[in-house]
Amino acid sequence: MPHPEQYCHSCGMPLSAPDARGPSDHYCAYCTDSEGNLKSWEEAVSGLAQFLDSWQNVGNEEARKRAVRYLTSMPAWADRA
Ligand SMILES: [Zn+2]
Repeated sequence: MPHPEQYCHSCGMPLSAPDARGPSDHYCAYCTDSEGNLKSWEEAVSGLAQFLDSWQNVGNEEARKRAVRYLTSMPAWADRA
């Protein structure tokens, strides 16, 4: 039986993606520190907002709103919704 694809519980990235697998079984390398601990909420939001703004060029405020909306749909951050 094939191993089911695993996704980061914080950002949704497939853990099979290049460089995505870090020390944690639940989170990708980008969402954790070198010991596999999940980043803070503020770090997660600002990191994703920066990425969204560079990709969609929507401005910092809108990028933060989208980052919050996206992250709160993830298991790791559902309690922030
Ligand atoms: Zn992640």
